[in-house]
Amino acid sequence: MGECPHCKHEWTYKEKLLGYALKPRTRIRCPKCREYIEPSTLSIIYDYIAIFLVALFIFILIPIMQWPMWPSLLISFILFLLYVFLFQPLTIRFKHYEYNIKKK
Ligand SMILES: [Zn+2]
Repeated sequence: MGECPHCKHEWTYKEKLLGYALKPRTRIRCPKCREYIEPSTLSIIYDYIAIFLVALFIFILIPIMQWPMWPSLLISFILFLLYVFLFQPLTIRFKHYEYNIKKK
């Protein structure tokens, strides 16, 4: 998982974390061949589902369950960390970067 579509370089956990999870998504470059790549459509869908579930938990489940504030904040924070440090590096797949060329 997390293989470069150009040179077949398998991204390490650290490369995925620093080069993808903790970075703005617009410009992702393969650390080996320096080609621009982007997350596959499936990765983006996974991303949206994860964000949706975390948001659902924070904004709906916590108010309904009426949990105390600090444990709720802590759980939300842990969920966010799990998302960035586990979920994203584990699910990411790359594809060729598609340039958005505007045609007149
Ligand atoms: Zn590459």
